[in-house]
Amino acid sequence: MIKKLAIVGGTHGNEFTGIYLLKKWQESPEMVARDSFDTEMLMANPQAYGQNKRYIDHDLNRCFSVADLANDSLSSIEQRRAKEINQQLGPKGAPRIDFIIDLHTTTSNMGPTLLITKKGKFYNQLAAYVKMHMPDAMISCDEDDKTNEEHHFLSTVALDSVMVEVGPVNQSVLSHDVFEQSAQMTLLILDFVELYNRDEVPELPETIDAFRYIESIKLPLTADGERAGMVHRNIQNQDFKMIEPGQPIFVTFGGQEICYQGEKSVYGSFINEAAYYDNNLAMSLLEKITLSTR
Ligand SMILES: [Zn+2]
Repeated sequence: MIKKLAIVGGTHGNEFTGIYLLKKWQESPEMVARDSFDTEMLMANPQAYGQNKRYIDHDLNRCFSVADLANDSLSSIEQRRAKEINQQLGPKGAPRIDFIIDLHTTTSNMGPTLLITKKGKFYNQLAAYVKMHMPDAMISCDEDDKTNEEHHFLSTVALDSVMVEVGPVNQSVLSHDVFEQSAQMTLLILDFVELYNRDEVPELPETIDAFRYIESIKLPLTADGERAGMVHRNIQNQDFKMIEPGQPIFVTFGGQEICYQGEKSVYGSFINEAAYYDNNLAMSLLEKITLSTR
């Protein structure tokens, strides 16, 4: 039973969609209220938003492992903000809030994506419910073998959580489509939680297609770590499409194609995500999976 739910926006200060959705819902809380649970809203990183940045010192969405939250020597702006949020919504391990929906956007062409970091029938049914009402929705399972304790995502302060990740939209920009898709997916999640609480989950498809994160891969780099190329045009904007062994995925600035070296077909997400240039990450690689709702 989920009694207390929090919708979080602005975990990344330049992802405006979630920030303005929060403002909208703070003015009209009835839109996100449901009978069987309380809904709270939290603006996660107002300082980064104030400076129009993803973060100031550290990516806030990497600061929530139990070990880091307990480490008092970690005291950057985001590391301290993580501890405040952990007080407010958590503490992680025995949290006040039962379920968190964390709102994100991506510059990649991922469409409306539900990111799930935990395994279980609840999540599979939630994903099926969202997909049933929003056929364009993509379901992506991200390191769902990890325990909540190990996960560094803000949303994992609660025992149960999801991230809503919608794109493409530039950083610090609003897009009508992305705004509405983010709102729709969030409201569907609230509706599902309400039905789940009331033991009224409707008939769902037996299985749904989803993706599971395998690894992140980097842009081509020189020996001294300078960027040596970019994402190939053939996979630009092709999130959740198949990448086959031998297919060009990068091109050097000199025009030489670099091909995917893996042994089996994979799928890409967060392809050429602007925020990932900090770490020279080029994309995530995924495998296709099937989730069962039974
Ligand atoms: Zn984000």
